[in-house]
Amino acid sequence: MNAGSQTVSENAGQVLERITAAERRAGRSPGSVKLVAASKTQPLSLILDAHAAGISVFGENYVQEAEEKIQGLPGAEWHMIGKLQSNKVRKAVSLFSWIQTVDSAKRAEEVSRCAVEARKVVPVLLEVNLEEEESKAGVAPAGLRLLAEAALGLPGLAVSGLMAIPPYGLDPEESRPYFVRLRKLRDALAREYPAADLKELSMGMSGDFEAAIEEGATMVRVGTAIFGVRHGRG
Ligand SMILES: *Cc1c(COP(=O)(O)O)cnc(C)c1O
Repeated sequence: MNAGSQTVSENAGQVLERITAAERRAGRSPGSVKLVAASKTQPLSLILDAHAAGISVFGENYVQEAEEKIQGLPGAEWHMIGKLQSNKVRKAVSLFSWIQTVDSAKRAEEVSRCAVEARKVVPVLLEVNLEEEESKAGVAPAGLRLLAEAALGLPGLAVSGLMAIPPYGLDPEESRPYFVRLRKLRDALAREYPAADLKELSMGMSGDFEAAIEEGATMVRVGTAIFGVRHGRG
């Protein structure tokens, strides 16, 4: 998985091919999985390389870091995939097409308020902390229903599904049960709120995105397999 010796363009092509193959193996329709290239700490030059190689969606973790990259590539679709701070919500709503990390009713209300002010409806995912790890953001599975109920009632949000980051360092087969759990949580919510369109499941990263696709991921967030190792924080 060391992507460092190849170019971003080569890596991007390979990841796109592996996604297509996983879709085919899993009986998913081709193109049904969105690749979100996780570009935190990576310079705009490499992001432009990935874009030229056919990647059109990028995920960033820090609003401030994302701003100049988004200005440098406004034609791409940008997703917020990092922890959202209250004082960055307004800026995040103005910069990003999607916010994948809504994990509390308070945050949902803040995003909705800023979206309404900006006269838009922001597609969001609810982030679930499957193992209730202290180091990670996300609502505990037991709190998901209440969060969904709060978020679904807000005018500025289009609640579109769930996102999770399973514990780090697992091999793909060890991650698979987490993917299954997230899918089941989503299925239960969709049954409870049939009017909501909760089709998105954002799960799977460089080490395990194929297993995630086999278990129903509609978005995979892939960083190092495209860009190589990260520098600095992140
Ligand atoms: C960095 C990051 C990823 C990508 O991780 P890789 O292992 O480099 O593919 C995915 N999701 C989130 C939320 C991230 O912060």
